[in-house]
Amino acid sequence: MVEKSLRRPDVTSERTEDDKNFNLRPKSLDHFIGQNYIKSNLKTYIESAKKRKKNLDHIILYGPPGLGKTSLAHIISNEKNVNFHSTSGPAFTKKGDLVTLLSNLMDGDVLFIDEIHRLPPIIEETLYPALEDFKCDYVIGSGPSARVMQISIEKFTLIGATTRLGLLSRPLRDRFGIHLQLDFYETNDLAEIIILNSKKLNFFIDADAASEIAKRSRGTPRIAIRLLKRVIDFSIVDQLKTIDISTVKSSLKKMKIDFQGLDEMDRKYMKCIALDFNGGPVGIETISAALLEQRDIIEDVIEPYLMQKGLVQRTSRGRILSKQGLDHISNYEK
Ligand code: ADP
Repeated sequence: MVEKSLRRPDVTSERTEDDKNFNLRPKSLDHFIGQNYIKSNLKTYIESAKKRKKNLDHIILYGPPGLGKTSLAHIISNEKNVNFHSTSGPAFTKKGDLVTLLSNLMDGDVLFIDEIHRLPPIIEETLYPALEDFKCDYVIGSGPSARVMQISIEKFTLIGATTRLGLLSRPLRDRFGIHLQLDFYETNDLAEIIILNSKKLNFFIDADAASEIAKRSRGTPRIAIRLLKRVIDFSIVDQLKTIDISTVKSSLKKMKIDFQGLDEMDRKYMKCIALDFNGGPVGIETISAALLEQRDIIEDVIEPYLMQKGLVQRTSRGRILSKQGLDHISNYEK
């Protein structure tokens, strides 16, 4: 059994310090690397809205953390040249919070709600008429003298982001006219992101070294940028002017990141299924209790990549470690 909970904030939905560095964020669709089908469709929707002189339909972006949902929302508002307002589902506590926010929007503005699956139900219900008819109900006073007022709001575009579309209620999901699913990135796209970011950070990295970091970034730009920054730290301390593949390999070894990009947390999860539960099947709640880790973190952060790589399988009876998964942890131990 594992005794300590391991956090990996860089791949949760929480914003990291790196994300707050807006210079590293792509500013336009042309600077957004990869996800080609999403980019080309978005270009079409934005151009069509401009030609029709209408606002964009509401958009839902979904996919694992760190793939660029927030960046895309910023880009959409830049491309449409409108104001960007950002908040998150858990930030709302009272209906009044949403009404105040909505009544301050201007025509065409983008309202971005991260982790939209965590909106409290009462807020979600207030949002429905705002999304459909650009109206919202507001209660004045309390008790028997309370009155419901309806206020009109400007026509805005809601961009929702979620790691799990399945947790959105059906009525909310149906109110988004544009559904876009972000996939894990190809290695060459991640290598391009790494080279671009190292230029922004004034450090030279050669193509092989960038590709090596890319291969170990779990298909995720946020992880690629974080690994690049840590490799830069090792290079600075070792007084190296450029990053080559041997620097990358030695730095990532020190960080215990293996050739597939898996870290201690992934290996603990796989070892837990292999050793404590005989390879599975084992239920998610049981794994969560054994690892002392929240179920959400396991489902959103750890599992999607391991499943995509075929190391773990999800069945109706629980999680199973595949033969590749078993080989992976056995080889790492050697
Ligand atoms: P999400 O909202 O899906 O968690 P973010 O939009 O916050 O992800 O992106 C995480 C980090 O990765 C940001 O620093 C962002 O600049 C970078 N990033 C994400 N996608 C891309 C991309 N396609 N091209 C370049 N950088 C990207």
